[in-house]
Amino acid sequence: MSQNQPTSVTPKYAETILDLIGNTPLVKLNSIGADLKPTILVKCEFLNPGGSIKDRIALKMIERAEAEGKLSEGGTVVEPTSGNTGVGLAMVAQQKGYRSVFITPSKVAQEKRDVLKAYGADVVVSETAVPPESENSYYGITNRLEEAIEGAYQPNQFFNSAAPESHYETTGPEIWEDTAGQVTHVVIGAGTGGTMTGTGRYLHEVSADRESGPVKVVVADPSGSVYSGGSGRPYFVEGVGEDMWPGNYDPEVPDSIHEITDAEAFHYTRRLAAEEGILAGGSSGMALAAALKEAENLTEDDVMVVILPDSGRGYLGKIFSETWMEEHGFDTNAPEPVAPQRIG
Ligand code: PMP
Repeated sequence: MSQNQPTSVTPKYAETILDLIGNTPLVKLNSIGADLKPTILVKCEFLNPGGSIKDRIALKMIERAEAEGKLSEGGTVVEPTSGNTGVGLAMVAQQKGYRSVFITPSKVAQEKRDVLKAYGADVVVSETAVPPESENSYYGITNRLEEAIEGAYQPNQFFNSAAPESHYETTGPEIWEDTAGQVTHVVIGAGTGGTMTGTGRYLHEVSADRESGPVKVVVADPSGSVYSGGSGRPYFVEGVGEDMWPGNYDPEVPDSIHEITDAEAFHYTRRLAAEEGILAGGSSGMALAAALKEAENLTEDDVMVVILPDSGRGYLGKIFSETWMEEHGFDTNAPEPVAPQRIG
């Protein structure tokens, strides 16, 4: 056998990019939290093909709509989103041969609209200064488009049960399997609540009879959001927290909730890149901040899994920009990286 002979006998590749959604890896943190007792693992959702955890719900919501006959050949996906869900839906719609139309408020950065267009989506811009009940608001335009376009389907990620179910069927089982059932805490930032509800429910159920007790579900919430008792006042961290209670957030699931400031979230987002080599978004730093607070009272036997929903690429002009951080009053002097070593 020549030296260049491959060892595999069958070629290894995915049939389509959609087959690469999910099965994201866990990585241990070696620097941040090294002075704390638990093992802290992060789940790299930014490695999904559309760049975020939202690929999972996009696939499930579209496949559910197909199964229920709500979306079929020639159909169009219509959703008011400019964020990660839009990218996931645009990618899945493109691969399955559907049109997609996204409605975004004018305040949203052009770059975000360009990502959606790159997948072949159409983007409609709504005026920002319009009351929500107006037919020209973000939601008003979405509803009118859904009625006007034949074969249109609006997934509605805030209330679609396929969203938490995708996490119940994939994210939760992956964490259980990859930790060999040793996970004790899962830490999740809540936006629509879909990740928390689905992943949390699965992990509670699967570990219910475990001798060491069931997995604890820890929610990270931006200071100001309703989940941690806020009024809905604004904050900078994106994709998490709410000013209303969406149907996909089940308040029975969390075992604890930590309120996290923008400053804390951005501090740990920057340290993830600088110390662990992990370029993740602001909601990832927020979840990590909550994990570190929870970890203070835990032991060497505890294994925490922190979900990192998206990549830091989308925040280079904000969280990773010294100018933006200083203009908004945030401290950019992250402490010196400590040597990667752990106790216990
Ligand atoms: N982080 C980011 C960056 C997000 O876009 C989202 C989705 N809104 C979340 C966290 C929260 O996920 P979920 O909607 O499932 O609560």
